[in-house]
Amino acid sequence: MGLLQGKTALVTGASKGIGRAIAMKYAEQGANVAFTYLSSVERGEALVKELEAKGVQAKGYRSDASEYAAAEELINNVVADFGSLDILVNNAGITKDNLLMRMTEEMWDDVINVNLKSCFNTVKCATRTFMKQKSGSIINITSVVGVKGNAGQANYAASKAGIIGFTKSVALELGSRNIRCNAVAPGFIETEMTEVLDEKTVQGWRDAIPMKRGGQPDEVADCCVFLGSDQSTYISGQVIQVDGAMLT
Ligand code: NAP
Repeated sequence: MGLLQGKTALVTGASKGIGRAIAMKYAEQGANVAFTYLSSVERGEALVKELEAKGVQAKGYRSDASEYAAAEELINNVVADFGSLDILVNNAGITKDNLLMRMTEEMWDDVINVNLKSCFNTVKCATRTFMKQKSGSIINITSVVGVKGNAGQANYAASKAGIIGFTKSVALELGSRNIRCNAVAPGFIETEMTEVLDEKTVQGWRDAIPMKRGGQPDEVADCCVFLGSDQSTYISGQVIQVDGAMLT
């Protein structure tokens, strides 16, 4: 039996990268998987079929993570379509990098809204369902950049640091209801996004990591399987770094 058998999970931003890996690992472990995407419509539709091939119920929703009203509609639809919600993974995220001197107000607002406000949106809207069920596992994807900061990413670092404060506060508020909330902080994970970067630059990043390699999306997903499962029933309010000891 899979570690997530009988559970329903919602993963935001699962059309590619880390979110896609989480959705696939969840299905492999027996979870029914609801997920969102925004611009990658074809890839979202293809993922439904791949998840269903693993023998679970799956549905994709085109939903903008930064919009509160969209989150409300999404959670209502997921609960209606799947009958429950046990695991919520807030993964959708973007970067709009630049030095502070050149960062526009729009770049700041976009990143804060997609990365941080999105977590408030879904958690706020899913809480009633979790409280009724007297259980729930919330997993927010932050970043080592949220722990350490990064030149050229003031907006992104602020959004990811905000996620950590939000995660800990939710864990404190909802712990008595058996609702857990944790954050996963990936380091440098090799996705399609990094494939297009200059190989020499990327090799430099790999060399600076104690494990001498970038991480794979599946390695972040494995941590999310653990946090979503009943193997972690007394773990809440934590930030787990998945970074090959990059930030240690
Ligand atoms: P990615 O490949 O660019 O995927 C991002 C996902 O988020 C896509 O599925 C995208 O969907 C979705 N998304 C973006 N804006 C959205 C919106 N407004 N509403 C709904 N969905 C939206 O990125 P990734 O590398 O897998 O990163 C996933 C998460 O891990 C992010 O939160 C990121 O900050 C975090 N992270 C990544 C790394 C890394 O090294 N890769 C390191 C630390 C943390 P569409 O394409 O359909 O728009």
